[in-house]
Amino acid sequence: MEIKSVRGMNDLFGVELEHWHYVESKIKKVFHSFGYSEIRTPALEKIEVFSGTVGDETDIVEKQMYQIITDSETYVLRPEGTASFMRAVLEHNLHSTGQPGRYYYYLPMFRHERPQKGRLRQFHQFGAELINDASPEADAELITVLDQIYKSFEVTEYRVRINSVGCIECRPPYKDKLKDFFQPKLNELCEQCQKRFERSPMRILDCKRESCRAIAKTAPLILSCICSSCKTHHERVKTCLTMAQVKFEEDPYIVRGLDYYTRTAFEFTSELLGAQDALGGGGRYDGLSSRFGKAPFPAVGFGLGMERLMIALQETKRLPQTIQTPSFFFSPLGDKAFELLFPLSLKLKRQGVWCEISYEKTKGLKWLLKQANRLNADFSLMIGDEELKSGSALLKNMKSGTQETLSITSLESELLRRATHAP
Ligand SMILES: [Zn+2]
Ligand SMILES: [Zn+2]
Repeated sequence: MEIKSVRGMNDLFGVELEHWHYVESKIKKVFHSFGYSEIRTPALEKIEVFSGTVGDETDIVEKQMYQIITDSETYVLRPEGTASFMRAVLEHNLHSTGQPGRYYYYLPMFRHERPQKGRLRQFHQFGAELINDASPEADAELITVLDQIYKSFEVTEYRVRINSVGCIECRPPYKDKLKDFFQPKLNELCEQCQKRFERSPMRILDCKRESCRAIAKTAPLILSCICSSCKTHHERVKTCLTMAQVKFEEDPYIVRGLDYYTRTAFEFTSELLGAQDALGGGGRYDGLSSRFGKAPFPAVGFGLGMERLMIALQETKRLPQTIQTPSFFFSPLGDKAFELLFPLSLKLKRQGVWCEISYEKTKGLKWLLKQANRLNADFSLMIGDEELKSGSALLKNMKSGTQETLSITSLESELLRRATHAP
């Protein structure tokens, strides 16, 4: 029987992984220049981290978590980043300074759902979290950081949608208002929405079913129901985004899947992705720590799916056409030449120059040149008995085909002069 990988969990290698590295390092640069430092949490958490926190009614907790059950504990593979982050913050008292703290993570997430384009069972997420800052400026900063990530790849084919989901003061009366509205139409809603009706009627607003959408179109909207301090906050977020030159639109139907959000909620979408059009999103979640039984403190964050971003970058051809290749391929013809070239190849490698050397001594020049070609090396360097006698080496530029003769005594400096150094 052939043993294969788990469905929805992919191997990454070759050019694809090179592209991932390229994208990851660019994103990390954005985070660093905005003052965010990395945090890594374990893949396995106690189930309580998620079950009491992300809201029992959300799809994630309902049916998508991978569980590992032992005699005394139930563990889950992390299905999302924010609850793990919050667990770590509380465990290490990162919030107790009272000072704003900026963190980002880049971690694999696990959800047992039907795999499809841009949706895997093991997927990778970048996330950013800013704690201890309740200001609308902080919300605008997070949106700007996410926006800057796409801008850094020169992607323009996306939309930034923002909304306010209110606070613990003004959301309950709004929820009641929504329930009054949906009550007489309950039978016309999809099964999922009928379940949502009692505990999270706001989530009916972001149902993707056409029939539910049609009903939701005339529902009362939250922006006309939020309290005056939520209103002021929301207006200030918009002003800051304008100052930051982030193009955005208001979308009253953004409620976020997770129910610990307060005030600002935002989503980045792109038509490049097809039906699953969410590129990333987030919002303020001042209420999350109280779900852990701790005093609430302000927090705002976002998540960005790598797989989705990679699709968008592929579609728009924003990934580098060429990946790094060796500067040199050394072809020693015979033991004497190998004794000379082997230490030299190591010298170059130790100086950050990608240099390949063939350990094959009997295949001949034609075969060696083929290897240099296959590896896409910039130059091929050949030394045989004749070259040894005259104290020279033959350097071929593999791109232009031109050849030159170098003196063995100055080989290292001549090669370094032509080398592309590793980044
Ligand atoms: Zn409010
Ligand atoms: Zn529905």
